Amino acid sequence: MTSKSLISTRRGLLAGAGALGLGAALTACSGEDSGGAGASETTAPAVPAGRPANADEAWDLLVEGNERWASGEPLHPGGEPSLREELVDGQAPWAIVFGCVDSRVSPQYVFDTGNGDLMTVRTAGSTFDPLIVESVGYGPNALDTPLVVVLGHQHCGAVTHAAETIGAGDEDGDLFDQITEALRPAYEAVEGTTDDKEELIEAMIRANVAYTVEQLARTPEFEPLVGNGTEIVGAYYSLETGEVERL
Ligand SMILES: [Zn+2]
Repeated sequence: MTSKSLISTRRGLLAGAGALGLGAALTACSGEDSGGAGASETTAPAVPAGRPANADEAWDLLVEGNERWASGEPLHPGGEPSLREELVDGQAPWAIVFGCVDSRVSPQYVFDTGNGDLMTVRTAGSTFDPLIVESVGYGPNALDTPLVVVLGHQHCGAVTHAAETIGAGDEDGDLFDQITEALRPAYEAVEGTTDDKEELIEAMIRANVAYTVEQLARTPEFEPLVGNGTEIVGAYYSLETGEVERL
């Protein structure tokens, strides 16, 4: 299923959905895509029609969108004013992308998705603290969003800064000290593995993704959910090719 077809099937779902998002949408959906005209509130499907039923299907949809983006043939779906209006009273995002603030790594572009498809949380180097974890955890906990993608990327400025600062012992007076400290575990994971600075930074970017996936899974927001309908995956975006690689 393409993003385009997903959006078209979602229209019936979201018509009339209440202000509480998916929970309201679940009880409100009774359109032709959700089990026929006879569907009642008690027989509503566990997952809204048109939305990926699980994390694997959500990942497949992201892969399809990224292939369009990387091949230079994006659809840029979901920009219709009619869809915007239909989303006023509810949302059912099927993936959360936790990535970097870098202007070249906008998830909606990278995965060629439209309005209402993705939640995005972005910080420098996808660093996190308890406040950020609550934001990332909102989708799975409040909206049954099945997939969380931690997205690192090539030539990440935040990781480069942290590697240079820690490597030189210049932490005192660092304007971005909290970001640097958040990236220290990734630095320590790859420290001494190579003398090549570019290689070290690339390894650190991937190490930070792995560390973030592991740490998120241990939080109260995610620990009860991972393996029970929610999946957290790590991925890496190449600025050169436009392709996302699952780590
Ligand atoms: Zn970055």
